[in-house]
Amino acid sequence: MSEFDLVIRGGTVVTAADTMRADVGIRGGKVAALADSLPESGRTIDAAGLLVMPGGVDTHCHIEQLEANGSVHEDSFVTASASAFAGGTTSAICFSSQFKGHPIGPTLDDYRRRARASMMDVSFHQIITDPTDAVLKELPGIVAAGIRSFKVFMTYDPLHVNDAEVLRVLAAAKKLGAMVTVHCENYAAIGFLTEALLAAGHTAPKYHAWSRPPVVEREATYRAMALAELIDTPIQVFHVSSAEVAEEIARAKARGLKVWGETCPQYLALTAAHMDRPGFEGAKFMCSPAPREEAEHERMWGMIRRGVLDVISSDHCGFSYEGSAGKGQNGRDVTFRDIPNGIPGLAARLPIVFSEGVSKGRITANEFVSLTATNPAKLFGLAGKGTIAIGADADVTLWDPAKQVTLTNALMHHAIDYTPYEGMAITGWPVATIRRGEVVMQDGKVQAAPGSGRFLARGPYPLIAPRGIVANGFDPVS
Ligand SMILES: [Zn+2]
Repeated sequence: MSEFDLVIRGGTVVTAADTMRADVGIRGGKVAALADSLPESGRTIDAAGLLVMPGGVDTHCHIEQLEANGSVHEDSFVTASASAFAGGTTSAICFSSQFKGHPIGPTLDDYRRRARASMMDVSFHQIITDPTDAVLKELPGIVAAGIRSFKVFMTYDPLHVNDAEVLRVLAAAKKLGAMVTVHCENYAAIGFLTEALLAAGHTAPKYHAWSRPPVVEREATYRAMALAELIDTPIQVFHVSSAEVAEEIARAKARGLKVWGETCPQYLALTAAHMDRPGFEGAKFMCSPAPREEAEHERMWGMIRRGVLDVISSDHCGFSYEGSAGKGQNGRDVTFRDIPNGIPGLAARLPIVFSEGVSKGRITANEFVSLTATNPAKLFGLAGKGTIAIGADADVTLWDPAKQVTLTNALMHHAIDYTPYEGMAITGWPVATIRRGEVVMQDGKVQAAPGSGRFLARGPYPLIAPRGIVANGFDPVS
């Protein structure tokens, strides 16, 4: 019997903390040895000249998600896994839905069945749109099943919850030891601006950004953090789009609140001007919050370097440009209000963050690993993920830091017919992906069996314990 199933030889291992020349020995799907030089044993991969980094952990992906109107997102667990592997990602957290007026249970059961086809390892966030007493009674069972995070939307029909409902979810999360993630935008402000824009005849895709300027996001972010402070529940603010929003998070962190900030490649590489392409083309870049002006990118990198933003996820939410399930599902002569929001980004995430961040000297390779693997795993309690250490799952991306690639949709391996990053010049590219010791992508070829992914049940973890500080010493949650 060989000592190892696989040895990654001659590479430079990069973790959030260290950079070291080391061979990596893998046995039984886990990292078993890290040493200057390991003996010949099992299969060998030559990693000379390559960075050996933890497989990406993408904690915000909409995959095969069920919608209230009965539709299902185009990317299945199989196509999304292929896309993840192509881009160096090995684990994701996606979203189980809840629909207003309905219990969580049956929809979650359906989603679990779908996720069984996954090739990457997955966990779920539970979306809560309607925290009635009956729905709150379902939550202990859901957390016990390893779904230890909830998501609330402060905007969007038919998902949005009001402040009273946010408080109910925060209180339930505190009781159960779960994280709350929040889509922060002001529902009423977006509705008001949208009506005014449409009345003025401003209907094209670019007005999507006009309907939700940064102040709309900044206000809701502050409000979500204030409500979380009141209940004393840790939260993660999803998809921060601009520095003025991040500044609110910095202030909350400085007060000692357990608040974490996430951003996405679209806020580092796309701009509102992309939505100003002729005709319907701007729809390809529509997501919420909206991409901002170009100068915002540098300010956002500043917030990343300051540690205000902790995670860079994809918010992968693909709608094809063509086809009845895509961006034109309501027709192409509709106003921006009736174009579905979301862009694909699972495969593009790591290359864009590496190229714009590490290759351009804005962050170190260690910071890259923190932002895209280690922090996401830590913040959501994904034990054994997001690092290369003895005993950890052998999830690895082998990265050629010098390889130059022009992004095309064919490289994305998703079910979506376009990428918003078509033609982007990238320096640094994943040449192989290893999931629990199995080579699942090599030189752009994905090779994994549907169903080989695991569900990652998340147990309690101390990072998200409440601070024990409540107003007037009165804890409203007991
Ligand atoms: Zn999202």
